[in-house]
Amino acid sequence: MKIVKEINSYCPKCNKHTPHTVKLYAKGAMRGTDIGNRRRARKLKGYVGKVKGQASVKKLAKKQKILLTCKVCKYTLERVVGSRTKKRLEFNMETA
Ligand SMILES: [Zn+2]
Repeated sequence: MKIVKEINSYCPKCNKHTPHTVKLYAKGAMRGTDIGNRRRARKLKGYVGKVKGQASVKKLAKKQKILLTCKVCKYTLERVVGSRTKKRLEFNMETA
């Protein structure tokens, strides 16, 4: 999926449409020893009955996210582009 490097979009801080720079969203590495991860592992281990939090349906693809940074006030917001897709986002080099 191709996107452009600059978008004219609404900025909630400036309260109007301003030019935004587009950056691809990259999720950071997860720590296995986080309290949330430990609690989840304990819950999934289970003891009796239904195991809470275990997904019965596996989602086939991730939603693609971009980061928009306002050029006027440098405020950054996330945006989901399109729906679930296996295709990676990339910049359209022809127009940029
Ligand atoms: Zn702004």
